[in-house]
Amino acid sequence: MRLLSLAVCAMQRDKPLPPELPLLDVPQAEDLYGELESLWLRYTNALRAFKSVCETVLEAIEQDDQDAAVRLLDEAHQAGEQLYVLLVSGSLQELAAHFSRREQLLMAKFEAGFCEAAQLGQFSVALDDNRIVAADTEFLRFVGLPAGMVVGAPVTTLFPADEWARLLHAVNMPSDTGRKASITVRANGYDEKRVMLKVVASIVAADGGQVLQGFAVDWSQTESDIQQRRLLAAAIDVSDRMVLITDRNQQIVFANQAFTHMSGYALEEVKGKTPRILQGPDTDQATRKQIREALARGERVHAEILNYSKEGLRYWVDLSIVPVRDDYNEVTHYVSVGHDSTDRKAQELQITKMALFDHLTGLANRRAGEERLQLEWKRAARQDGLFAVALVDVDFFKRINDTYGHAVGDEALKHIARLIRSALRGGDWAARWGGEEFLVCFSLTEGEQARPAAERLRRAIERAVLATEGKELNMTVSIGLAVFSERYHQLDDMVEAADMLLYKAKERGRNRVEG
Ligand code: GH3
Ligand code: MG
Ligand code: MG
Repeated sequence: MRLLSLAVCAMQRDKPLPPELPLLDVPQAEDLYGELESLWLRYTNALRAFKSVCETVLEAIEQDDQDAAVRLLDEAHQAGEQLYVLLVSGSLQELAAHFSRREQLLMAKFEAGFCEAAQLGQFSVALDDNRIVAADTEFLRFVGLPAGMVVGAPVTTLFPADEWARLLHAVNMPSDTGRKASITVRANGYDEKRVMLKVVASIVAADGGQVLQGFAVDWSQTESDIQQRRLLAAAIDVSDRMVLITDRNQQIVFANQAFTHMSGYALEEVKGKTPRILQGPDTDQATRKQIREALARGERVHAEILNYSKEGLRYWVDLSIVPVRDDYNEVTHYVSVGHDSTDRKAQELQITKMALFDHLTGLANRRAGEERLQLEWKRAARQDGLFAVALVDVDFFKRINDTYGHAVGDEALKHIARLIRSALRGGDWAARWGGEEFLVCFSLTEGEQARPAAERLRRAIERAVLATEGKELNMTVSIGLAVFSERYHQLDDMVEAADMLLYKAKERGRNRVEG
């Protein structure tokens, strides 16, 4: 059928050959066309003659001319016979054979092209004397030997004896596809170089003997790739850094031992899940967002994040995440490498705490207090909250120090801090403003709430008794209170006002609130 359509195409010169057989430069193609053309003409003439005879037979029958009909039927029979001879037993069949030869040539040419494109080398070895019969240029390139050294040489030039025996054994193993094998063998390369070949071999009959015919692919590169991957995997696994690999959908595909050690999860437990399972209630949302957005942009990201182990223990990870792209620049995976930074983070938190908190009372220190006050000020200025500042100073504190000593004085300060802390309501906060002076910030909905709050605090301190070293201590405080108001142009004005009021409270006899 294909041959016939080829023949038709060949006749209609303007039409190209079917795409599966592109026109290649095949020798004698023009001769074949010439021959085919004349045969085709003879065939169409015979067909036309047959058709016209058939028509006249039909006419004779219609006109009831029996004699003419019989004569013409005879003619039609003869014309049909001619056609039959031409079509079936004659030259067309011969031409078909020519065409199959042409196809064979095309096939051979295709095969060579394919082998070249697929980097497929060919070789064959006669099995009666174990000599190499043929090796193509691709194959010679793999082994790095010239044709002169290979073709005609004993097969052991190409393969070490044991490898050749292995190849033969594999080919001779009975299989569904006859004597055929696919096997990786070691070949002798130039300068005793070891060359790995993936060979598909079969045994064919040729010139009265048997020949092993092999197609080979240079497997050395692939082998070294695999080895490199193995080395890399081993290196990753023994690394003390945590390594986690996810696919483009953030699903975990790999985790190393350090990850298991740190998180308590084995790879099987997290495979297919997202790293989200490692995070918990106190994991910073802003950090998560920062990571997510960087990865969405295809950028690498470095962050420190709080994770939770399988047992629920918190640990900090200093993490670098890198997107990995394929040949088409599409992100296929993300590789995260990290280390446990819990200790460092704890130190950092300690330092931060030291920077922000007063070590004696645990309250915010003055610096932190000032920062927080700025925030309160801005919020109130936006009419997004109302607050009052109370400056609280212990009355006659010097006496405590002088009478009982500095250590008791410290105890007394801690005691006051505790009392202040327990007087705080939602949104209130306090700071140690200096020596034995505290700042309390009351969060208000109405300005009138400030004074009662300050009074409550004053009374709570007045009533409390500190029992220390067998003595009972009573203390009082004076409070200067300033409520946020448009009157104050800046925060300092407001604090200064509170300070003035405190001074006033002292002046007016202490243990009182002014403001
Ligand atoms: P006033 O009623 O006028 O406030 O009298 P006062 O004695 O409290 O006077 P003042 O506020 O001037 O004195 C503060 C004293 O607090 C001075 C200082 O020795 C003492 N002091 C400041 N910081 C500490 C501290 O950390 N520990 C101890 N034990 N004493 C401190
Ligand atoms: Mg004082
Ligand atoms: Mg003071």
